[in-house]
Amino acid sequence: MLDKVLIANRGEIALRILRACKELGIRTVAVHSKADRELMHVRLADEAVCIGPAASAQSYLNIPALISAAEVTDSSAIHPGYGFLSENADFAEQVERSGFTFIGPRAETIRLMGDKVSAIAAMKKAGVPTVPGSNGPLGDDEGEILATARRIGYPVIIKAAAGGGGRGMRVVHAEGHLLSAVTVTRTEAHSAFGDGTVYMEKFLEKPRHVEVQVLADGQGNAIHLYDRDCSLQRRHQKVLEEAPAPGLDPDARAQVLKACTDACIEIGYRGAGTFEFLYEDGQFFFIEMNTRVQVEHPVTEMVTGVDIVREQLRIASGLPLSITQDEVELNGHAFECRINAEDARTFMPSPGKVTLYHPPGGLGVRMDSHVYTGYSVPPHYDSLIGKLITWGADRETALTRMRNALDELLVEGIKTNTDLHKDLVRDGYFQQGGVNIHYLEKKLGL
Ligand code: ADP
Repeated sequence: MLDKVLIANRGEIALRILRACKELGIRTVAVHSKADRELMHVRLADEAVCIGPAASAQSYLNIPALISAAEVTDSSAIHPGYGFLSENADFAEQVERSGFTFIGPRAETIRLMGDKVSAIAAMKKAGVPTVPGSNGPLGDDEGEILATARRIGYPVIIKAAAGGGGRGMRVVHAEGHLLSAVTVTRTEAHSAFGDGTVYMEKFLEKPRHVEVQVLADGQGNAIHLYDRDCSLQRRHQKVLEEAPAPGLDPDARAQVLKACTDACIEIGYRGAGTFEFLYEDGQFFFIEMNTRVQVEHPVTEMVTGVDIVREQLRIASGLPLSITQDEVELNGHAFECRINAEDARTFMPSPGKVTLYHPPGGLGVRMDSHVYTGYSVPPHYDSLIGKLITWGADRETALTRMRNALDELLVEGIKTNTDLHKDLVRDGYFQQGGVNIHYLEKKLGL
């Protein structure tokens, strides 16, 4: 087992990783910016190192500072969490080259999946269903671009190969707008991601976002932990997630779950990962893979009983998966509400001092949060202050528990989006299950 892990992240996920390390008897090193001295995991870690000023570029994204911190603390491995450097292949490479274990896939896998064009090609080859599209980057030949769109059929979406976070995409409804859309997306992609490569896909009009959690040990074993539905999104940001995804076509689901584990073997995947799909009319279409632990991993943990971060640590220690596919049992239903420090109506961030914090509790209720009464939410980072997760033997019970838990949650001194969640868990369509990715924005009148 790894001896000492440096946690290259902050907030709730840093605390989540620290807890998993403690359970396994692994010592922990917290790294933090000058604005984050008061973070809960910094207090609880065996050691803490300040790695730079508040700005992420100079702290949580500062590769030399992170590697130096690993060196001075004699850490054996680095856990990147999510966001920040978690999907940065150069970081993974430098960590390993400096003699530390990167808790995640090999750098070349991160690179393969980080470029959406190469990711889609690899998935197609492995038998994972993809969106009908250009099958590779768009070239400069205008006639060819027009022909590709005609073959796919409008509407189409132009996407940056290096895009992420919902940026670098443009929907085109008619031929007259196609060429200018391609040019603009290329230019934007070039300035935003340093790579102007774009590709084309059929634009699906009413899909759901369904994703598959996988674990692979890089020793020939790969399993899936079923699916999650994350269709409730605003500006491509997930707001509320659930596991399993309700009402999927059973045959299509079984096929896609198997295709994901087969793909893991095919590409030699190692670690935890997520295959993201759009799901429409009973069919799955791969859009991208995330090569890290995800914000919404707890809903899967609640319905499978598998500790995903623990498995990541075990895999990085060179151990095989602790469970086989046959041992994974789906039990009940779980929801997660992302609690953000922001105005529930305007979505404006609301940093500041939390004057009272009372997390909900009881059977089937889990609150993953780093917040405590007296903690000041700094303005420099994303606004997630906690994740409220509920489990129930069935969807209705889990949802009832979420309604009650949201009523119990008290965060005073700053604004939170709790009222938005209270509204959502009482929404008639959402209660039925299976709303599409546009539902939340429509409901909000956006
Ligand atoms: P990112 O890496 O920026 O998150 P994705 O490829 O995952 O990019 O796409 C983000 C979101 O954009 C999807 O969740 C979906 O809402 C929308 N989207 C992407 N591709 C399509 C498509 N072919 N049809 C419809 N919507 C799409």
